[in-house]
Amino acid sequence: MEKPLYLVRMARESALAPRPDSPIVTAQALADTRGRPLRDLRISVTDRCNFRCGYCMPREVFGHRHAFLPQPALLRFEETARLAEVFVVLGVRKIRLTGGEPLLRKNLGRLIELLAALRIPDGEPLDLTLTTNGSLLERQARMLRAAGLRRVTVSLDALDPILFQRLSDSQTEVATVLRGIDAAAEAGLTPVKVNMVVRRGLNDHQILPMAEHFRGSGHILRFIEYMDVGSTNGWQAGEVLSGREILDRLQTHYPLEALPGSYPGEVAERWRYRDGQGEIGVITSISHAFCGDCNRARLSPEGRLFLCLFAHQGYDLRALVRRGAGADEIAGAIRAIWSGRTDAYSEQRGRLATDRPRIEMSYIGG
Ligand code: SF4
Repeated sequence: MEKPLYLVRMARESALAPRPDSPIVTAQALADTRGRPLRDLRISVTDRCNFRCGYCMPREVFGHRHAFLPQPALLRFEETARLAEVFVVLGVRKIRLTGGEPLLRKNLGRLIELLAALRIPDGEPLDLTLTTNGSLLERQARMLRAAGLRRVTVSLDALDPILFQRLSDSQTEVATVLRGIDAAAEAGLTPVKVNMVVRRGLNDHQILPMAEHFRGSGHILRFIEYMDVGSTNGWQAGEVLSGREILDRLQTHYPLEALPGSYPGEVAERWRYRDGQGEIGVITSISHAFCGDCNRARLSPEGRLFLCLFAHQGYDLRALVRRGAGADEIAGAIRAIWSGRTDAYSEQRGRLATDRPRIEMSYIGG
């Protein structure tokens, strides 16, 4: 069968990839000012979403007058794959596709095929995953798996149908998202992780129903402390329920025991039910910062590189790609940017000047 053109081009372009012996690559292993390597790249493929969750994309800000990125501004899939290839040579081992809502981006399967074709130096495939609100997952799960995606994470903040629609400010039914999770598991996008952002007084009463629903399912439910991401969600510290408080609530019903981390830089603290009914996680950016081994970078839909979820500014890599810069030059630019990285917002929260707006999570992904 004839190879699709873009794969032929891929092969030709990989000839342009930084040579393993190139000085840019063989130079000392890439690390930032705190010795943190670059291992995890989050690629936002769109700033659009069909939900308007208050902590991420409040409708009063992201309403019908909001100017989303025009199509020509977005990185084309070949450009994204080109950049990803350089990141992999520089040390990235995991790529997470995000948004906005990534499943809204047309022909996303094509990008996934390009990324799935990338090989890390020891020949292993990349850990290629995606975060979605699940509303389109039931229809796309098999295609995503066939294209080469390995896992998915689904954001779900409530099981109560009315509360779910209120929190997502959408007409989507929670049952649609639950069917999407089932379809992902059936398609082999496992383990499916389910992320719940907990807000005191809003959905914290859903902690136990969510735990009961996913116990024994094989899916990993993670509880996320409500974060002051971006500059539009009106974050109040009083609405944060800490990871400790969440665990205490669960422990009263289901005894838990701590599990060791799976890999350096993992965001979730892992716990398992003592009765063998599976694993949960807590993500504690507010009460217990994890910047110390943060190895994550973020690429915006139009190719700006951000070094922290709470960053103020990004670095334009699209210009390099569009003016035909070689892989060595691109690698050199990324190396210079990352090695100067000092970001550790969660450790410094409350002590930093707050006059500069932080980048929106709906733009660079969670
Ligand atoms: S606050 Fe920034 S540096 Fe800290 S863990 Fe989050 S993304 Fe990493």
